[in-house]
Amino acid sequence: MVTILTKGKKKGFRSLRWTLLATYIFIGFIPLLFFTSTTFRTMNKYYVEERKKELLSQANVISGHITVMNYLFDESKKELFDYDIQETSRQGGYRIIVVDSSGMVVNDSNKTETGKTILIPEIVEALDNKDVAKEQAGEIIYAAVTIVDSKSNQIGAVLISDSSSDIFDTIDDIQKQVAILLGGVVIISGIVMFFMSQIITEPLKNMLDVIKKMSEGHLEQRVVVNKRSHNEISDLAEACNNMADKLEQVESTRQTFVSNVSHELKTPLSSIKVLSESILLQEEVPKEMYVEFLQDINSEVDRMTEIINDLLTLVKLDQREIPIKYEMTDMVKLCGDIVKRLSPLAYAKNITIELIADKEVSAEVDSTKFTLAISNLVENGIKYTDNGGKVSLYVDCDHQNAFFKVVDTGIGIAEEELGKIFNRFYRVDKTRDRETGGTGLGLSITHSTVLMHNGSIKVTSKENEGTTFVVRIPLRQNVKSMESI
Ligand code: ADP
Repeated sequence: MVTILTKGKKKGFRSLRWTLLATYIFIGFIPLLFFTSTTFRTMNKYYVEERKKELLSQANVISGHITVMNYLFDESKKELFDYDIQETSRQGGYRIIVVDSSGMVVNDSNKTETGKTILIPEIVEALDNKDVAKEQAGEIIYAAVTIVDSKSNQIGAVLISDSSSDIFDTIDDIQKQVAILLGGVVIISGIVMFFMSQIITEPLKNMLDVIKKMSEGHLEQRVVVNKRSHNEISDLAEACNNMADKLEQVESTRQTFVSNVSHELKTPLSSIKVLSESILLQEEVPKEMYVEFLQDINSEVDRMTEIINDLLTLVKLDQREIPIKYEMTDMVKLCGDIVKRLSPLAYAKNITIELIADKEVSAEVDSTKFTLAISNLVENGIKYTDNGGKVSLYVDCDHQNAFFKVVDTGIGIAEEELGKIFNRFYRVDKTRDRETGGTGLGLSITHSTVLMHNGSIKVTSKENEGTTFVVRIPLRQNVKSMESI
């Protein structure tokens, strides 16, 4: 068998480990980043809005105070007005500008704009009777409200400007801390993930290495199974090892089979060689010797043919090459025909052969194959029974199965041999069996055929008393289950 191995391409970033890490980043890290940045944006907006409301309410308080104190029209209170604005600005930490109805600055807590006209949009809107608070670029919040007199006439506006940088600074600080925390979490969980993925992928890598070595022919390789952690990966490793056991078994059976076949064919071949050489090397060979040697060569060729035919039958049975044709068959007739055919063999050894069937038995079998299977058992009975013995074939059934019993009064099989007789080429007594003309394949053929019929075969035997084979097959074959085997 030629094994073509694809070169182990480096997986790099396509490896399972990187896939797991990438999944972690996509599922865990990116949504977390998105979530935190959205949270900070919302927080920022919230605090700015709160600050706007606060400044508007402050501006309203100042506006009301100006009206009550009549600061815009009472020149005598100018100092008090200045003091009030200064003090409120100092306490609030923001700048206060008061303008009259024409937009001219009448008071500025910074003193720089007094007397000038300021018509920034917020003031224009406030003079138009609309209270307004806006955040300007450059981190400044403006809040402007109208000043009205006791008769609700619009007499000016108050503008408060405050820096919003403190909000940004606070959020920035929190953001930095969260970033450090997140970074730590990401690094730690990244390390954990890295090792976790190693724990997951390492056994798979080992398995892959072992399978690669096995496909190179090192069938003795096994994956180390971690007995402590029982999970899908350890199950996979065990399944891999079981498969390796099976492969090794198949390989060793194949090797034994091939060496057995070679050995079995070598014996008749060397006999032929010896026989033919002894004729060739002699000068004047008498005709009778030619005939005798050629007869011997002929019987060796017959033996080889028999072995090859048996082997072909077995191989075909193994490969299920010959389609099975199940037919409801009269088993008593099938067995009667076998007995009739083998009677001359039995009579030649003065062996009584009998068929015992008390009732009609019909079963679904492939009659050609099944005849061969039962014939082998009866023929063995005759072969391994000494002159004057008896071979009986019983046929019986219950409502589900048909039973065939082949009983002989022959030489029997030793207890320790019983487990091996179905093996290919196995013969209990090699020299004696060769004399009987056996190939050691008959019982293997019977065994395979019975299994093919979803049945079973059992043997009991006592040395020098006899042997009994019992075959059981179902009366009906479930075609579906057969196809799925
Ligand atoms: P063979 O062609 O040699 O008979 P089988 O596969 O039919 O091969 O049988 C395997 C071996 O089992 C035989 O060689 C024989 O030693 C033993 N055996 C089979 N059937 C019997 C039997 N009825 N009585 C005694 N020994 C038997």
